[in-house]
Amino acid sequence: MNNQRFYAFLQRQILLMIGLSLVPGLAYIFLGWLNGVIIPALIWYGLIVTVSLFGWKLYNDFKLEQMSEKALRSWYRKLAAFYYLIFALWTLIFLLYCTETGHNLHYIAIFTQIGASVVASTLLVSDKKLFFPVLIILMLPLIGYFFLIGEWYGYVLSVFSVIFLGVLLYSSDNSYQLIQENYYQAQHDSLTGLYNRRYIVEYMERLIQRLQVSDNFVYILLIDLDHFKTINDTLGHDIGDKVLKEVAMRIKRYCGTTHTIARLGGDEFTIVSGEHNSSFDCKELSINFSETLLQVLKAPYMIDGHHLYLSASIGINGVGNRATDASHFIKEADIAMYEAKAQGRDGIILFNEDLSKRVEYHLEIERRLYFALEHNEIALRYQPQVNKQQEVIGCEVLVRWNNPEFGFVSPAEFIFIAEKTGLIIELGNYIIEEAFKTLREWNAKGIHLEQFSINISVRQFFHSSFAEDVERFVKKYLNNELVNKVVFEVTETILIEDMHRIISAMKRLKGLGIGFSMDDFGTGYSSLSSLREIPIEELKVDRSFVGRVGEHRSDELMITTILSMANIFKLKTVAEGVETEEQFQFLLKNNCDIFQGFYFSKALHKEDFEDYYLKRRVVRPLKGIAYEI
Ligand code: C2E
Ligand code: CA
Ligand code: CA
Repeated sequence: MNNQRFYAFLQRQILLMIGLSLVPGLAYIFLGWLNGVIIPALIWYGLIVTVSLFGWKLYNDFKLEQMSEKALRSWYRKLAAFYYLIFALWTLIFLLYCTETGHNLHYIAIFTQIGASVVASTLLVSDKKLFFPVLIILMLPLIGYFFLIGEWYGYVLSVFSVIFLGVLLYSSDNSYQLIQENYYQAQHDSLTGLYNRRYIVEYMERLIQRLQVSDNFVYILLIDLDHFKTINDTLGHDIGDKVLKEVAMRIKRYCGTTHTIARLGGDEFTIVSGEHNSSFDCKELSINFSETLLQVLKAPYMIDGHHLYLSASIGINGVGNRATDASHFIKEADIAMYEAKAQGRDGIILFNEDLSKRVEYHLEIERRLYFALEHNEIALRYQPQVNKQQEVIGCEVLVRWNNPEFGFVSPAEFIFIAEKTGLIIELGNYIIEEAFKTLREWNAKGIHLEQFSINISVRQFFHSSFAEDVERFVKKYLNNELVNKVVFEVTETILIEDMHRIISAMKRLKGLGIGFSMDDFGTGYSSLSSLREIPIEELKVDRSFVGRVGEHRSDELMITTILSMANIFKLKTVAEGVETEEQFQFLLKNNCDIFQGFYFSKALHKEDFEDYYLKRRVVRPLKGIAYEI
């Protein structure tokens, strides 16, 4: 029996069986008295009472939630014994009465045996190991009895009984198969054959109750495949399904019978370990177990002629006697798994309270961010960009959030939350509108920049109304000359989308006069071919490379490579995060065009930028005469 729910079903039948034995049993005492076999009848009834008491005890002993697997198995063995015994007793009374012709008792005996067979085939239908032998125990004596009559009608009845037994076995077996199939489907994932979410949650609920009694520990793993979506998107769902099946098989093979495995949906799996009696051992084991599992999952996949490489992010959570429910434990494992993703995927993270606090902090930020615009907490800063002569030729607009509770929250922290919640659309529009206002205002004040860069997040870029919104702001605030100075900085993550979509989105904006810059270049997924295809004018060398000039030869090499590549593609280059004279000189020597960083200035208030500009403005000769304002 593989399903614990069937135990509960069989437990309920105990009472019915006791009732059906004790009450009609009294009639058999009376019949025994009529026929002068009262002593055997009383002994028989005494046995019925004894076995019923045994059944009653079994009925009360059953506590599915608190019983360990082992205790359940032992209970089940006793239960099987109960059913065998009680039906054997009914066979006994049959044997006792089938030869009694007085009061035609043999008719009653025959009916009793047929009735008992029907009862057995219905009550025990959920368990083949029970109803099969019990039906044989009940029907064989009947068949033998008819046969031993020695008359032709006896042989006929004997054959009929064999047929009847066959029908009972066949119909019970059919119902049994159907019940099994239904249960199987309700509890399993149809693609991989692993348990499904519903089952594992129920399983864990029972497990948690048991752990509270036993003081044992188990661990759960939440496994999410990295970049699985890419496989589905590029190779199709058929291959995706085959990969999932292979992953499920590897997990199953690795876990053996000691763990319970489920597919929660998509590319998410969960594993629940067996019980351990020390929390420390449990933790150690879970880490070792996960590390090997990661290796198992990372071995190359060969599917329909494709060599595929996968990795996974695993969150681990210890489950002990904390009074929480299963979904809470799964959620905590999920938080740990997300942290593993955030730390670069292909890793294992053990859930802890700090993590949970961080998640809470993020949720709090998420809640407050919602009101940030309304409460005027969002402001813009402008970081100067200078040319080789260190004259200000542009700026990058950087957003700041000043919250009364949290103080200044870094955009590095809240932009991704805004992206996750979709708030980035509203926030992004606000930033664009405010930035355009500044650009116009500066122009009126005689601050003429060559370029004016605004960061655009991927989510914003691919939002359906993005181009329309930008167009509206352009019309409202800018003229042709000004819009040509606007540069949208996008990151390499836009390249995850399909090329066609990127290019058509960019073309519409380019039609307005807006240029594009590839931000954080060299840290993501760019390939040379995509650089050639998408219409960008500028590359920004990521500050992580610039920051290590003079320290790491490989970072310097990265910079020189990016700069010479940009040169080949005729792209303008901006180095960001320039903090020292040495870095500036290195970049100058390698022919970088534009520079940005604390060495020149941090991001400034609008008014401070104006002052800064006036000190370092570009002095252009006008009609041959140098002029100053
Ligand atoms: P980013 O686009 O790479 O922006 C450059 C970041 O580098 C800015 O941080 C800037 O203050 C910092 N930085 C500039 N020079 C130096 C330097 O010399 N040394 C060091 N250590 N840092 C320097 P910030 O303002 O905290 O912005 C962080 C990130 O937040 C930005 O990275 C960008 O991805 C995002 N972000 C900022 N403003 C916006 C915005 O308006 N919209 C969107 N979508 N994202 C934004
Ligand atoms: Ca940027
Ligand atoms: Ca950057």
